[in-house]
Amino acid sequence: MSHILLIPSMRPMDGSGHLQRMVRVHRQLPGSQLYIRSEDREAFARLVPDSDGFQLVSDVLNPALIIIDMPWLERETMRQLLRRAPVVGIDLGGGARAMASYLVDTLPYPGDALHRRYFAEPERTPSTVAEIMKIPGGRRTWEAPNLFDPGFLPLPKRTREPDGRIERVLVSFGGSDPADLTGTFLAALERSPRLRGVGGSIIVPPRREGDLPPVPGNWQLLPYTDDLPERYAEYDLVVCSYGLTPWEAQYAGVKTLVVDASFYHGELARRSGFISIGPDSLVQVADELTDPAFLLRLSNQASRVRTLEPKPLAGFLQTLERHCGHRCPVCGEFPGHTLVCRNESRSYFRCGSCSTIFQVRLLPDTIEYDRAYFFEEYRSQYGRTYLEDFEHIKDMGRRRLEMINRQLFDTEGQPRLLDIGCAYGPFLDAARDGGFLPEGIDISADAVGHVRNSLGISARCGDIADEDFRNGYDASSFDVVTMWYVIEHFRDLTAILPWIRRILKPWGLFAIATPNSSGISGRRNLPGFLFGGPEDHFTVWSPRQAEKAGAFHGFQLQHWNSTGHHGERFPGILGKAPFKGLSTLLSRAASLGDTFEAVFIRLPDEQEGPPGERPDDANEN
Ligand SMILES: [Zn+2]
Repeated sequence: MSHILLIPSMRPMDGSGHLQRMVRVHRQLPGSQLYIRSEDREAFARLVPDSDGFQLVSDVLNPALIIIDMPWLERETMRQLLRRAPVVGIDLGGGARAMASYLVDTLPYPGDALHRRYFAEPERTPSTVAEIMKIPGGRRTWEAPNLFDPGFLPLPKRTREPDGRIERVLVSFGGSDPADLTGTFLAALERSPRLRGVGGSIIVPPRREGDLPPVPGNWQLLPYTDDLPERYAEYDLVVCSYGLTPWEAQYAGVKTLVVDASFYHGELARRSGFISIGPDSLVQVADELTDPAFLLRLSNQASRVRTLEPKPLAGFLQTLERHCGHRCPVCGEFPGHTLVCRNESRSYFRCGSCSTIFQVRLLPDTIEYDRAYFFEEYRSQYGRTYLEDFEHIKDMGRRRLEMINRQLFDTEGQPRLLDIGCAYGPFLDAARDGGFLPEGIDISADAVGHVRNSLGISARCGDIADEDFRNGYDASSFDVVTMWYVIEHFRDLTAILPWIRRILKPWGLFAIATPNSSGISGRRNLPGFLFGGPEDHFTVWSPRQAEKAGAFHGFQLQHWNSTGHHGERFPGILGKAPFKGLSTLLSRAASLGDTFEAVFIRLPDEQEGPPGERPDDANEN
């Protein structure tokens, strides 16, 4: 259940760098599998002769995580992969880019407008590494990756100091060389006395083996190998096409000249700050290799990526969570979610079916709900401990109970209320005062102990995400279930919401409080609102979404109430001190609070009868 499936590009046009990178990760990542279709096995064997002990598969069975290393992928393929597991895209482009659960770019991605603006200034070369590191773009751009770091490139260990000489040249257009730049270079070698005057090595792509003309005596043809980057430092100049190679060569301290395999590759090379030329200009540029100014440009270039900090890609991939799915955590559907925004630790998508915004989080959690959570965490957020705040929260509970009472149908005897995530019990205490028979659930043993021993209210310690724990509750046993700022903490609600429906009596009430993505902060800057929220808020609700999400599970949104009004969060002058009061009034009038409370009615099944009377018929909304 925990294996990682690695899917490299095997299309010759994409070059062999993606395959070699996944091969390296496969060697370093125990339990990983390498996806190579049967029709690609022959080409694979040519490119990776030493694959003893490899776990090769040609089916996507049940991976826990999928890593895809391709410059381009169709949406439909991505949709099918996402049904199996979360997908991490590495230097992924194409229509599927925005769909990836997590995106790592090791090469600058050119599609994004910010990248374009940055790289479109040709006079900026030589760029420094510090500048390169700024490239990933703003949070608002949806083409930006979660993480951009050229340090993840397989940077060579052997490096050298760049100097002004060019005596030995390495020519390598990769293992596939779809544009036959090797052939183009050999033709130029024949025509250029300058090139024949230096010496060097030409890497033969596997499919051209035995097929190339002889070369002058100071040149040699070498077979393609996957450990080539360690040999770059033996040369003064690497001639290559755009891809991983120019980055690796510059890291090794070697002057690098990029020959454009296509117009697109030329654009990528120039935007990444490399000196690149068209294949037709090889002979002409070879003559310039004696020009001191050109040599200086090349060697300045060679030092620009030297300060990158190498990071092991396999090590990073191994730390990623493997239990986090890509289905909507509220309705469980997979209609093709829309990307909202990404940052280094989170990706947010909006469900196309119930419109819930949910977080896909592949980095490990850092929050634990222990005593410290309620005391230190709470104090840091609100300036006082949860227990110090008990009376204040209990007051809020009284107001919430009024809201619930207005919607509650007549019950036989004392209404039973279950508060999930009851913490130290202020709401339970208010509910008991209000005539309910309350009961609590919390995952903190300390909190549950306090509720039982100090308040004398029944409570169980457990996690409702755990099926066994859920099964400890009888069907149709509560009139009210409440979750105050709790629902957003679950990674997966697809079993929890049906369970709440089950333990509620028909026409019973389910009440929540949770952040509101359509409040003033979410409307002003949704990515800012989402990234500003705690890392353990996995679903983000709004009244309109709550109506759809509730309907999905047999609940009807009966009433909602905007809370958390902050006049100072309004834009412009409305947020300034003299207008704050007015803005807060406006927020209340227009329901623009950053949180909301909602009451759902558990709709009956067909055989379940009509509701009782409401105590008063003042059903306002
Ligand atoms: Zn959904």
